[in-house]
Amino acid sequence: MSEEKKIESLQKEGQIFEPDASKQGQAWIQNMEAYDAANEKALNDPDGYWGDRAKELLTWFSDFDSVLEADYDKPEFKWFSGGKTNVSYNCLDRHLTDGRRNKAALIWQGEPEEDVKVYTYQMLHTEVCRFANVLKKKGVKRGDRVAIYMPMIPELAIAMLACTRLGALHSIVFAGFSSIALQSRIDDCQARVLITADAVLRAGKTIPLKGNADEALKDCPTIEQCIVVKRGGNEINMVEGRDSWWHEEVNAEDITSDCPFEEMEAEDPLFILYTSGSTGKPKGVLHTTAGYLLYAAHTTQCVFDVKDDDVYWCTADVGWITGHSYIVYGPLTLGATSVMFEGVPSYPRPDRFWQIVDKFKVNIFYTAPTVIRALMREGEEWVKNYDLSSLRVLGSVGEPINPEAWLWYHNNVGGGKLPIVDTWWQTETGGIMISALPYATPLKPGSATKALPGISAKIVRRDGSVADANEGGHLIVDKPWPGMLRNVWGNPDRYKSTYFAGFPGAYEAGDGARMDDDGYFWIMGRLDDVINVSGHRMGTAEVESALVAHPDVAEAAVVGMPHDVKGETIYAYVTLKSGVEPDDDLLKALKIWVRKEIGPIATPEFIQFADGLPKTRSGKIMRRVLRKIVEGSDEFGDTSTLADPGVVTDLVEGNKDLL
Ligand code: ATP
Ligand code: MG
Repeated sequence: MSEEKKIESLQKEGQIFEPDASKQGQAWIQNMEAYDAANEKALNDPDGYWGDRAKELLTWFSDFDSVLEADYDKPEFKWFSGGKTNVSYNCLDRHLTDGRRNKAALIWQGEPEEDVKVYTYQMLHTEVCRFANVLKKKGVKRGDRVAIYMPMIPELAIAMLACTRLGALHSIVFAGFSSIALQSRIDDCQARVLITADAVLRAGKTIPLKGNADEALKDCPTIEQCIVVKRGGNEINMVEGRDSWWHEEVNAEDITSDCPFEEMEAEDPLFILYTSGSTGKPKGVLHTTAGYLLYAAHTTQCVFDVKDDDVYWCTADVGWITGHSYIVYGPLTLGATSVMFEGVPSYPRPDRFWQIVDKFKVNIFYTAPTVIRALMREGEEWVKNYDLSSLRVLGSVGEPINPEAWLWYHNNVGGGKLPIVDTWWQTETGGIMISALPYATPLKPGSATKALPGISAKIVRRDGSVADANEGGHLIVDKPWPGMLRNVWGNPDRYKSTYFAGFPGAYEAGDGARMDDDGYFWIMGRLDDVINVSGHRMGTAEVESALVAHPDVAEAAVVGMPHDVKGETIYAYVTLKSGVEPDDDLLKALKIWVRKEIGPIATPEFIQFADGLPKTRSGKIMRRVLRKIVEGSDEFGDTSTLADPGVVTDLVEGNKDLL
C-alpha cells in the first residue's frame, strides 16, 4: 500500500451546546454515562447486545440459533441465523393486538393542502394485504424483484410492505429519475413487475410519469406487468395485457383483505436500493430481512427517541435509504406515527415545512442540509409565522451540515433550545452510524459527534494504523453491525473491492474524517474529493463551511483545479443569498474571509458565482462533475442521477468566462 500524506484539518473549534439539564433523562439513552455503558457492553459482547435488541424489538416465528457469523475474507455476514420473521408482520400485524390498532401509522400530506389521508395500523394492514393479494395474483413470489417508481403517495409505502409480506424484493427508483435510469435499474435487478403512477404532483405542476415508465419498458424484457396508480388524472397510454390500474386491481372481487405473510429466514434478501451516484456508477445495495429491520428500528429509537404519542416527520423521499429506514421501516416497526409529505419545501411558499409542523404538531423533524441552506437563503421570516413549540428533536442527514446552517436551524427552527442530531450514515449502512443522542450528547455544530453504541467507527491511515486526534484519515468500521449491506446486487466482486479490500477486517466508508480530542467525528467529505495544494491535503467540507459562514453566501462547493506548481489549487463555486449581487468587491472579500477563517492555504484562487450547483436527486453536491469542469473536460461520467443537467451547461459557460 502506498504512503499517503495525512489530511489536514483547518477548522477552528466553535461553541459547545450542553444538553438542556431540565430535559435530560427523558430520552431512550439518557446521558453520556448511559451511552458509555451501552457502548461498552455492545463492543465487548456484541452477540449479547444485538441478540437482546433483536428479541426486544422484533417478533420472531422461530428463534435464531446464533447472533452473528462473520467472515471478512469472503466477505460474508450472517445475522440471526435460524431465526424466522416477516417485515410486514413486524410493521403491521403485531400492532393490531398491542393497543395500537386505531393509532395513526401514516399521516399523509399531499401537495395540495386539502389532500390529507391518515391510515391507522388497522387500515394500513388492510390495504397492504389487499395489494399483496394483487401481486400474488400476478404471480409474484418469494425472491422475485418488484420495481417501484412512484411519487410520495401512500400507495408507495403500501407497495413496499406488500412486497415484504410475500418475501419479494422491492427496488425503488426515485420518481425524479429519467427513463434511462429506471431502465438500467430494472435491467440490473431483473424485476418482473413495475409499480408506477400516471403523474407526480410537484410545485403545483402535474408532471407525467407513466410516459417515462413506457419509455423504459421498451427495453425491459423481464417486466411482465405494470400497475399504475391514478394520481394526476392525466391522459396516459395503457398497454393491453401488461398495464392495469391499481384501484381496479385492489377493488377486484377476488381480492380480499387477508393475506398470510411468508415466514422469512433472517438473511433472506429484503430489498435492493441503488446509491445516489455521487462518486460514480450507482451500486445496487442489498439489504436482508432481520438485520436491516432491527437496525432501522433500533436507530429510530436511539436517535429520535420516538415516543408513542409523538408525531414524527422525516422529509426525505422514500426513494432514498433515508425514506426506507426512517419514514417506513423504523417508525412502523416501533408502532410510531410517521408523516409522509408529497410536496417540496418551497411551494407554494418557502414556509411549507413549518406550516406542516404546526398543522400536525410534529415532535421530531428530520431533514437535509441542502434543505436548510435553501430555506436560509430565503430568510428567517418564513419560520416565524408558525407555532413550532411541539418540536422536541431536530435531525440532519445527507451531507456535512455547515456550522452556519446548523446554527440557523438551531436558532430559528429549534428556538435556540432544541438538540440537532447530525446523523452520518450511508445507503450501505442501512441506518444511522454516527450521531448525537438527543438531550444526552453535548453538541458541536458541524460534528456528527459519536458513533452509536456498538458501532466501532475509526479514523485510520492508508496503512491501517489509527490516526492521531485531529488527523484526517479514512473512516472505517471494524466490527459488523446488523444493518450492514450484504452484497452489491449481481456484483460480489464490487462488494468486496469497494468495501472490504482497502482495510482487511473492516468496512470502508469512502469518506474522510477526523476525530477531535473529545472523540467527536468531523466528516471532511468524500475521499475522492480531497484537494491537494502544495502537498497539503484538505477535505472539502471545511473550506465550504468557511464560505457558507459569510453572510452573503448561501451555498458553496470547492474542488481542486490542476496547477503546475502547487499540484492543485482551490476553485470554489458559490451561490449567493437572495438579493445579493455578485461583484469584484465581494469576490475579494470572500477570499479574505476564507483566509481569515481557516488560513491562507485554504484560500480559493478562483471563485465562480453560480445560480445553482450540480446535485444528485437526493440533494448532494456532485463534486466530481465540478472537478471535470475545472479540468476543462466534458467527460462527466455517469450523470444519470443529476437533478438538473442544465446547471452543468451554465457552470461550463461561467468557467470559460472566469479563466
Ligand atoms: P455513491 O456511493 O453512489 O457515490 P452516495 O454516497 O452519495 O452515492 P448515499 O449512500 O445516499 O449515496 O450517501 C452517503 C454519503 O452521504 C456518505 O458517504 C457521506 O459522504 C454523506 N453523508 C450522509 N450523511 C452525512 C452527515 N451527517 N455528515 C456528513 N456526510 C454525510
Ligand atoms: Mg457512497
